[in-house]
Amino acid sequence: MKRIYLDYAATTPTHPDVVKAMLPYFSDSFGNPSSIYACGQEAKEAIEGARASVAALIGAHEDEIAFTSGGTEADNAALKGVAYANSDKGNHIITSSIEHHAILETGHYLETQGFQVTILPVDKDGMVDPDDVRRAITDKTIIVSIMNANNEIGTIQPIVEIARVTRDAGVYLHTDAVQMVGHIPLDVDELGVDLLSISAHKLYGPKGVGVLYTRKGTKLVSFMHGGEQEFGRRAGTHNVPGIVGLGKAAQIAQQEMDEEAERVTRLRDKLINGVLENIDHARLNGHPQTRLPNNVNVSISYAEGEAMCLNLDREGICCSTGSACSSAATEPSHVLQALGLDPLQAHSSLRFSLGKWTTEEEIDRVLDVLPRIVSKLRAMSPLLKSHH
Ligand code: PLP
Repeated sequence: MKRIYLDYAATTPTHPDVVKAMLPYFSDSFGNPSSIYACGQEAKEAIEGARASVAALIGAHEDEIAFTSGGTEADNAALKGVAYANSDKGNHIITSSIEHHAILETGHYLETQGFQVTILPVDKDGMVDPDDVRRAITDKTIIVSIMNANNEIGTIQPIVEIARVTRDAGVYLHTDAVQMVGHIPLDVDELGVDLLSISAHKLYGPKGVGVLYTRKGTKLVSFMHGGEQEFGRRAGTHNVPGIVGLGKAAQIAQQEMDEEAERVTRLRDKLINGVLENIDHARLNGHPQTRLPNNVNVSISYAEGEAMCLNLDREGICCSTGSACSSAATEPSHVLQALGLDPLQAHSSLRFSLGKWTTEEEIDRVLDVLPRIVSKLRAMSPLLKSHH
């Protein structure tokens, strides 16, 4: 049975050209980029090449790019780094209810350290209201962190408008752009953000490497102490193959993302419309238009998400319920709850995320298989019977 992978938001396959670019840095060019002899300098040049590629992809200067161990570290570094460096100015942080755990849990931790965190609600489509940000800012606020695009429901936030608010107030703005970068063109100056997180494995790069973009002049402390790597912002010997892989992935994205976004959007809409037309009691979660080109999140009432997911897996189809992180947990997704879904609707959700190797035949196959699975599960479900 051919596997149909529709969980690109959890992680993407590493692009074959990325793997090829990485390989020499495990073997011939294994040097430490901090060493002054030739094989160290070769590795250093490769890192600087990758830095230039990432900077070009998001319209940043090279010295505003610091490599990290991934999106989680970038989120931690942004929030903790700004909070600790600016605690003389205030202790208030603003974020939203639909952020990734890398932000929400960092916020919880900072609360134990004397910071105050305001968590803004979202509307039924998962949008943060820039006016809510404006109203939440006090003279103690130091940073606002609102994600660029949500990993579960795909909703894209009005970052430009939020940035106008934070700029007026003289408050830093961070955005978790992990699901955005490499999929939709983005420019840090047009967005108006001060800090931005990237993860390589969401754009066909390797796992365990990411970037924190920090606008020049941003007051930030490092929470990784040691060597002078990454302009003193992130100590530790570089993950050279990983960084080279991210650089290559950034180059490929820059060339291909426009066309790819168009192609994937068409398949996304086919899948959404097919599910809504062919399955009763199905609804789309997330914003109907302002959403990632590859994200489909649906609630299919009276069928349990986990059961649909396992049945799809038996047909060779990989997707997820809510998000990969919460799939193992029994708690319904905090994102779906924030939209106002009741726990039953939240438990009957499925996320399909499409990507570079998704074909029309694969979407047709899902649209063939899923209604049958839903009928089978509903036939066994006491929930549907009690509904009628
Ligand atoms: N932020 C978002 C929105 C994500 O989807 C993810 C991925 O799970 C992360 C952060 C964490 O990134 P990483 O897996 O590189 O730590």
